[in-house]
Amino acid sequence: MGKTILILGGGWGGLFVAHRLRGYVGQEHRIVIIEKNDKFSLGPSNLWVMTGDRQYPGDVERSMSKLLRKDIELLHAEVTGIETETKKVHTSVGTFTGDYLVIALGSELYPEALPGFVENAYNLYDLSSVARLHEVLQQFTGGKIIVFCSATPFRCPPAPYEAALLIESLFRNRGLKDKIEVHIYTPEKQPMPVGGLKIGAMLRQMIENRGIKYHPEHKVLRIDGALRKMFFQDGIDAKYDLLIGIPPHRAPRVVVEAGLTDSTGYIPTHPQTMRVLSDVETLETKLPGIYVLGDVAAITLLNSMLLPKAGVFAEEQASVIANSIAASIHEEESNKVFDGKGICYIETGDGMASTGSGEFYAYPEPRILIESPSKEGHKAKEELEKLLTTWFA
Ligand SMILES: Cc1cc2nc3c(=O)[nH]c(=O)nc-3n(C[C@H](O)[C@H](O)[C@H](O)COP(=O)(O)OP(=O)(O)OC[C@H]3O[C@@H](n4cnc5c(N)ncnc54)[C@H](O)[C@@H]3O)c2cc1C
Repeated sequence: MGKTILILGGGWGGLFVAHRLRGYVGQEHRIVIIEKNDKFSLGPSNLWVMTGDRQYPGDVERSMSKLLRKDIELLHAEVTGIETETKKVHTSVGTFTGDYLVIALGSELYPEALPGFVENAYNLYDLSSVARLHEVLQQFTGGKIIVFCSATPFRCPPAPYEAALLIESLFRNRGLKDKIEVHIYTPEKQPMPVGGLKIGAMLRQMIENRGIKYHPEHKVLRIDGALRKMFFQDGIDAKYDLLIGIPPHRAPRVVVEAGLTDSTGYIPTHPQTMRVLSDVETLETKLPGIYVLGDVAAITLLNSMLLPKAGVFAEEQASVIANSIAASIHEEESNKVFDGKGICYIETGDGMASTGSGEFYAYPEPRILIESPSKEGHKAKEELEKLLTTWFA
C-alpha cells in the first residue's frame, strides 16, 4: 500500500529531502511538501543582492508553484499543529496524516525581540531589506558602518564576516576606503566559536587585515534611532551611520507548542539518524517515523556546542532521511548516517571566497580547514546557487 510522507517546510532541506526521496520510492507513495511561503530563495544570494551582483527579486526568488517535479505535491499552507503520536499535521487548510513526517521548518527571524532593530537596522537575512540596503550603500559616501549579530545561534556563522568583507571591498574598489569605517559587534567570543580558537584567530586576522574593527562579546540590548546609537550590556554604547544586523532567531512556534524543543530552543536530534531524541545523554530516540533536519534541529557536538545552522548540513541530512524512509518502506536496513561533514564558501570580496571544510564530529573539537581566498571558491559558491534551476521550471 502506498505511504504518505509529509515534509513540513519547503526550504533548502525540505526541497532536498523531497527530491532525493522521489528518486528512491515509487509513484504509489505520496510526497507532500507543506510550505507557507509561495517564494523560495537561497540564503547565500542575500549577500550578492547587497553588493548588486544579483537583482531582487528576479535573480534570486523562485515561485514555489514552478517546482519542476509534478510528482512532488506542494501544499501552500501554514503548519499550525503537529500531533507526534498520530503523525497528524494541522494546517491553515485542513488536517493531514502521514506515515512519515519530516520536520524541516527551519529557524524563524525574530527582529522584534531587539528594541529598535525593525526601525533602525537593515536586516541582512531579509531579501527586501537587503535590496534597500544595496541602494543605500550605492549612495553612501562616508561614515561608520556597523554589522552586528543580535544573538546566537544564527544561520550561517560566517555571514556577518562575509558581509563586512564585501562592504570593505565595495568601498575600496570605489576609492572610498578612507572615508568609511566598518565595525562588527557580536555576542560571540570569536568568529565561528564552534570551530575552536585557531579558526577564530584566523578569521579575526582575515577581517582585521582589511581594517575591519572587531568587537566580540558585545550583546546589544537596544538601538536608539534618534541618537544613532546601539546600547550594549555592561553600559557600553556605539554610534553608527549605517546599521546592518542579523536579528535574533527562534524555532517556529508550532514545534515549541508541540513540545518538541528543549533548553537549546530547538529540537534535540540524533546526530546520525536525524530522529528526535528523548535523551540527549544516551542518544535514545523516540517518535518512530518522525525525522528532523536543518536549522530547526539541535545537534550537540563533542565540544558541547551546537552544529552550525547551514544549508549544506540540511542537504546531507536530507539524504540520510530520504535513505532511511525509503529503506523503511522497502523493509530494508538503512545504510546511511549523517557524518557531520560539510563545506562552506566564505565570500571575501573582489570576486573571491575561502573554502572551509569541516568535520564537525571530530574529537575533541571540530576539525576545520579554511583555505586562502580564491576565484575558484567564489565560483563554487555560485554553483551552489544553481541548485535553484534544478528544482524550478
Ligand atoms: C545571508 C545568508 C547566507 C547563507 N549562506 C549559506 C551558505 O553559504 N552555505 C550554507 O550552507 N548555508 C548558508 N545559509 C544558511 C541556510 O540558508 C540555512 O541554514 C538553510 O536554509 C536551512 O535550511 P532549512 O531547510 O533547515 O530551513 P529553511 O531553508 O529556512 O526552510 C524552512 C522552511 O519552512 C517554512 N516554514 C516555517 N514555518 C512554517 C510553518 N509553520 N508552516 C509552513 N511552512 C513553514 C519556511 O517558510 C521555510 O521555507 C545562509 C543563510 C543566510 C541568511
